[in-house]
Amino acid sequence: MNTLRVVPVETQPARVQPLSVLPVFLNLRGKRVVVAGAPEAATWKAELVAAAGADVHVFTLEHTDELATLAQSPPAGSVKLALRAWMPDDLDGAVLAIGALEGEEAEDFATAARLRGIPVNVVDNQRLCSLSFGAIVNRSPVVVAISTDGAAPVLGQAIRARIETLLHPAVASWAAAAKGMRDLIKSRVPMGPARRATWSAFAQSALLARRAPDECDMDALIDGAVDQGGSIAIVGAGPGDPELLTMKALRMLQSADVILYDRLVSPEVLELARREARRMLVGKAGGGPACGQDDINNLMVSLAKSGKRVVRLKGGDPTVFGRLAEELEAAARENIPVEVVPGITAASGAAASLKMPLTDRRFAKRLQFVTGHAQNGGAPEHSWAHLADADVTTVFYMGGRTFAEMADHLAASGCSPDLPAVIVWSATTPRERAISTTVGGVATAVSFGPTGEPCLIFTGEAARCVAIRSAGNASNIVSYG
Ligand code: SAH
Repeated sequence: MNTLRVVPVETQPARVQPLSVLPVFLNLRGKRVVVAGAPEAATWKAELVAAAGADVHVFTLEHTDELATLAQSPPAGSVKLALRAWMPDDLDGAVLAIGALEGEEAEDFATAARLRGIPVNVVDNQRLCSLSFGAIVNRSPVVVAISTDGAAPVLGQAIRARIETLLHPAVASWAAAAKGMRDLIKSRVPMGPARRATWSAFAQSALLARRAPDECDMDALIDGAVDQGGSIAIVGAGPGDPELLTMKALRMLQSADVILYDRLVSPEVLELARREARRMLVGKAGGGPACGQDDINNLMVSLAKSGKRVVRLKGGDPTVFGRLAEELEAAARENIPVEVVPGITAASGAAASLKMPLTDRRFAKRLQFVTGHAQNGGAPEHSWAHLADADVTTVFYMGGRTFAEMADHLAASGCSPDLPAVIVWSATTPRERAISTTVGGVATAVSFGPTGEPCLIFTGEAARCVAIRSAGNASNIVSYG
């Protein structure tokens, strides 16, 4: 008999790819560091290394108040000033040398350091550096450093800013608390999977935390009693541009197990979510096929009950035409902890993008957001006279298909067909388009726009400034009527 046997083959992890530089984390506590040269750069570098606990010796020809203050009260370590030029012997016994020097003096400094085997950094002179400082995110004892190997320092700073938003300051105290927990965990949690699970629960808690840990948190982790009950966050994704997410929304996306999102949520926003998070599209766009609201509620609740951190991600602001009440009630019925994170609503995003104030004390004294969509698919009932007022800015959500019908009601209530109006599609995204028109022109102008893209209609005097600019040929705005 011919039996096919599959023999397992153990494979190796992938080899390390070439690195432009090797990141290392230097312990400078109580170590001598020499900083020499121009006082401004010397002050900043001296402060940096002193913050890491070094005993810093600064050699500079110029006395400044900043240096004196730093020497008096360093963030950690110590700072000693010498008002004279550096000499090669000054480097003896140092573990790091930093020079804010130029020309031959910079060369001499680098050589003196190299002869003594000391890593050297010469400010703004990569050729002479054996070591450079990256951009830093400080959540000590957690320290993140970013290098672009001098290729793009501004990109390094931008990456730093991104990481800053991801790591809540509280992560510092959680990491610090871990030191104290180590022995406790060793004594109370058996080695192997249980201990690994405790540390993994600790890490998850530290990343989600908005405050320092207390004893109860630690006990709960050690007892394995970490709240496994799951949770729901109803989060506003903003109008499309990922830069318009709140920091809180970003953190939620980064810590979600499952994301239930509407079609209005832009792909650029979803891209920022935690890689391992399951993404489920549950929403509809413009009357297309969709999960029923009950199905969404049931899915959201059952996922949370199975211990998942569920993010219900909605376009714009969840408190504006977002079925928030129904989802909150569904969570409350099952006693699931729920949090609401606001977002920038489409009207605010579009108004900013068009540089259109929504209120103006001269002619736009009220602002109202109204729906253009009734449950039966037609225009809803409104007190039309309130929408026809001339000194009001009205923003119609979901109004593209029904505006012809609404325009009749507005006209019957005394609204001038010449009142300025603007239609905006996919505001704040690369697909944004706008047509400046009048209330009388909206219904026709809507048909000139892209189909399948969400649109908002603004009516009122506030929209006149867009009309004026579109007459001046603003690039993404055209006029009609
Ligand atoms: N909660 C959302 C609104 C949901 S109702 C918010 O606060 O923005 C859905 C409607 O919002 C769409 O039909 C459209 O009228 C509007 N909308 C959402 N995003 C939009 C965008 N980027 N550009 C234009 N209109 C948008």
